[in-house]
Amino acid sequence: MATNSLKHLQIERLNPLEIDKAIHQKSLVFIPLGAIEWHGLHLPIGLDSLTSHGICLQVAHKSGGLVMPPFYYGMSGSIWHHPYTILIEEELVFLKIIKTTLVRLEASGVQKVVIFTGHFSLKQLQALDTLKQDWLIIRKSLDLSIFSISDCPTVEMEADHGAIFETSVLAEIHPELVKLQNLPSKEIFPSNDPNGNSKGDHRRDPDNVLFGIFGDDPRNYKKQRAEIIIRKIIDWLVQSV
Ligand SMILES: [Zn+2]
Repeated sequence: MATNSLKHLQIERLNPLEIDKAIHQKSLVFIPLGAIEWHGLHLPIGLDSLTSHGICLQVAHKSGGLVMPPFYYGMSGSIWHHPYTILIEEELVFLKIIKTTLVRLEASGVQKVVIFTGHFSLKQLQALDTLKQDWLIIRKSLDLSIFSISDCPTVEMEADHGAIFETSVLAEIHPELVKLQNLPSKEIFPSNDPNGNSKGDHRRDPDNVLFGIFGDDPRNYKKQRAEIIIRKIIDWLVQSV
């Protein structure tokens, strides 16, 4: 189902009576996480949240439950200095808002929360590990599960940054936001990766045709492959929640 037609699962759009009704049927709330960062000229800076939010809506549509607005701020990675990139350095700052959200959802009677992150910098994943440990100590009743888009066991393509994987995933959720035409033609300007390494430091050079994109050339995007990836991610989560 088109993500735009799942607005009735977005918790921020609902009144308390509507929330009670949905939570009574399935006591589950999704928290999509992302980041604000450069993803190349062809993709929006909020890609990680846009994809995690869209995927959570699709999963909630199948499994029940409601979806929190995406948390657009994520933990830092090695590309923190790229233009229009705003990443958090301090784990405490990042985790405080998420913990408050968990505590308040628990106090409101929600039984289960699933955090799904579309941003998977090492710091982000480490912070989520810390959260998992901390929550076991402070929790009263709420169960917490955490998944990263980079961990789907059935997807054969490695998760990347602004490259073929992230381009494919966003294209299935918000096709109007993928603008491959912003990148130069691959026939005239091929990706030209030393030793075939599409994640090397040459991509950090602002003159590189795929500057700030880490992974295989997004200009090789194929809708057919994108459909398989997104279906596998959604199936994986539906089975896991
Ligand atoms: Zn990303």
